[in-house]
Order: sequence, then C-alpha cells, then structure tokens
Amino acid sequence: MVTFWTIALIVLSISFIVFVIFFGRLPALRNTPIGLLHRLITSSLPSLFQVLDSHLFSGRLIPRISRSLNHIAYGRHPTILIFFLLLLIVGQALFLPSAWPSLSSFHKLFGVIAILLPYLFIYLSAYTSPGLITAENLPYHLYLYPYDFTLFHPGQFCKTCRIPKPARSKHCSVCGFCVSKMDHHCVFINACVGRENQHYFLLLLLSTAALTAYGACLGISILGARSMDKFPTWSRLKPSGMSWESWFSGWGYAVHTSVGLGSVTMLTALTSPMVWSLFFYQVYLIYVGTTTNESMKWSDWKVEMDDDCAFIRPLSPATRQKDRRFESLDGRWPLEPVQIMVRTDDGTMPAPNSGIPGNGDWRRVKRLADVENLYDLGFWDNLCDVFLPGFEFGGEGGDDGWEDDDVEVGNGNRPAKPVMPSIPATRRRRRNKRRKSGAGRRRD
Ligand SMILES: [Zn+2]
Ligand SMILES: [Zn+2]
Repeated sequence: MVTFWTIALIVLSISFIVFVIFFGRLPALRNTPIGLLHRLITSSLPSLFQVLDSHLFSGRLIPRISRSLNHIAYGRHPTILIFFLLLLIVGQALFLPSAWPSLSSFHKLFGVIAILLPYLFIYLSAYTSPGLITAENLPYHLYLYPYDFTLFHPGQFCKTCRIPKPARSKHCSVCGFCVSKMDHHCVFINACVGRENQHYFLLLLLSTAALTAYGACLGISILGARSMDKFPTWSRLKPSGMSWESWFSGWGYAVHTSVGLGSVTMLTALTSPMVWSLFFYQVYLIYVGTTTNESMKWSDWKVEMDDDCAFIRPLSPATRQKDRRFESLDGRWPLEPVQIMVRTDDGTMPAPNSGIPGNGDWRRVKRLADVENLYDLGFWDNLCDVFLPGFEFGGEGGDDGWEDDDVEVGNGNRPAKPVMPSIPATRRRRRNKRRKSGAGRRRD
C-alpha cells in the first residue's frame, strides 16, 4: 500500500502543480483559486525567496537561479522538448512490456498508431515555420488580416525587426522574429505557435490527449483484471458491501504486480484531463475567433473598461481612406473594421475632431460584448483559417488571390502620428453583418 499511495501522491502533486503553472495565467482563471495559487507560485514565493536571499546571501543567489530557470523555460533550446520526448519514451517503455501480452490484436494495432501520432505532430509543429514575417514577405502578411482598430492598429512598428507589424502578429523575443497570427511561444515544441503551424499544434494536443486517455483506460482495465483474478469479490467500481480500505487494497495489489504500468496509468489518468483542457481551450479560442495572445489583449481592455477609460465610435469602410503603406486595398478577409476603440489615461472622452479616425461622437464602452471581434467569422470559417493557411474566403482570383502590388510597403515610412492605443473587444455572432459587398466571397 505504501507504494500505491506514494506513487499516487507524487503523481497527483506534480500534475496539480503543472496544471496551476500552465493554466493559472489564463485570463479566465485570473480570479479563481487556481489563479491565486499561480500568483503565489510565480510571484509571492519568488518575492519571499528574494527577501531570504538578501539576508542570507546578500542577494546573489536568486538572480543566478532566476537566470538559469529563465534560460531553461524561455531560452531558444530544446531542453523541454527533449524532456517531453523522454517523458513519452520512458512512459511507453514502462507501460508496454507489462501491458503488451494482455492486449488484443486490435488494441496492439490501435495502440501503435496512438503512440506514433504525437511524435509525428511534435515533429510537424516544431519544424514547420509558424509564419515568420520578413521585409520581403511583409506585403503578403499585411494582406492576410485587416487591422481591426481595436487590438491592432496600422502603423505600429516592431522595434527589433524594424518592419510594420501586420494585424494579429507579435514579435517573439525567444525566436527573434515577428510571427504571423501569433498564438504563443511553446516551450514544449521549442517554437512559436503561429498561423502556419497552429493546426499541427492542435493535432499534437489532440493526439497527446487521446494517447493519455487511451493509456489510462487500458492501464485501469489491465490492473483491474489482475486484482479481480486475485480477489474474486473485488471490482473496478467499488462494490457496495466492500470497505474503501479493501477496495484501495485491490488497486494497491495490482500496482505492486507492475509498478511501471501502475505509475504510468496513474500519470496518464491524472494528466489526461489537463491535456484535454489545453486542447479544448485552443478549440474555444478558435470558436471565438481569437488567439492566446489576443485573449490577453482582450483581458487588458476589460480592465480599461472597468476603469471607464475605453471609448468607441464608428468607422465607415465606405469613406475611410486606407493607408497603403500598411493596409491591403483588397485583402482576403471578408470583413472590414466598422469601429475604432481608444482609451484615454484619465477617462476623458476624446474630442470628436481629435484627428483619430472614425465618424461621429465617441461612446464610453463598459462591456466587451459591445465591441465587435473582426476576426470571428463563425466556427467553421475560423477553423478553415486555422487548418488551411492559404484559404481564400472569397474564393475568387485563382490561387490565393494575392497580388504583389496590393500593398505599398517596404519604404520604411512611419506614420505621421502615433497610432491609437488598442482596445478590447469580444465575440459576436454576426456572420452576415459587415461582409464586404460582392456575393460569393465565401466558399461555403
Ligand atoms: Zn519583430
Ligand atoms: Zn517563439
């Protein structure tokens, strides 16, 4: 029983801490116990250690440890990718020798496929370019997405790459590039997740989640069978007349018959919900037409709204003159921005003729629901945008509809005035609104 409980406790603790570290920073969990625990681990504890360090080691120890940890977690090296691969390989090496003789031919075949798929998608997501933006391919990336005048405004430059930032892009300080439709930098694949590898990353999450769930089910089935052979009155679901102690003893006996199989079964059972959560979170982001990076921006704008500092007014696609240095005249996206949102530091409403684009009076915004998300076309179109990076929503013009003279960029001209601060918005189901005129722009 000691082995069973020791393994269970270790696996449960590691899974929970990993869950808190990875999920606690998400905006949706910010004000939950998970978010609080995340702040405790990532902020309060380091502060406490700093105080101890300053008293005991004159403040020399923490910076060194911090630099090392930062390098491991955020440096451009494959340490965590190798750790991830080792976890898979060692887990399978512990699991398979004991489980294999008990598997039917179907499960042997299915198991091999389930084992191989995560390796395939690790390779594809890690070695497919996420969509690096350079001065040469900049016009194409400007053509892909319009600026929404909420999260992304034309005329902003990347200080490192010294090129205009296309809508939905972000500079990755680890990779050293601006990435198209940046989602996040993933340490597990040692690369950014962006427009051109997001689908592989999604399939990696799905295949890993399926593998862990499958491994947990097989392990529970095999271990349970062993215990039932030994104790005929025992079953995987606790019999009503059996004490909890006897029931756990049955599991303990089964784990003792193969510690490797038992450990991996517990690990997969506890980590599987976490991997599924990551997968469904990504699906949810696609459903609402946003990315991890953009969800952070929306979250920041919610704070601005709560502080009464966010304002909005209409933007007319019919009368607005596009800045050809930064905007495509006829991009592939089927929607145009129809609003602009700005914030002021002191909550004062901007003047109607302040020089900021837009028409009419400003209106204070209190809710994310009052702001359109330009990048949400509805789930299926959003999914097409993820899985078919060259997808043309208009379906006209052959190939991908891209023409090289669509945008006049590359002269390095900066805008005459600073661009507007960004603003948060949220999803709305308005597939039939604001689509560009011209029937049949969508393929569906
Ligand atoms: Zn950059
Ligand atoms: Zn990166």
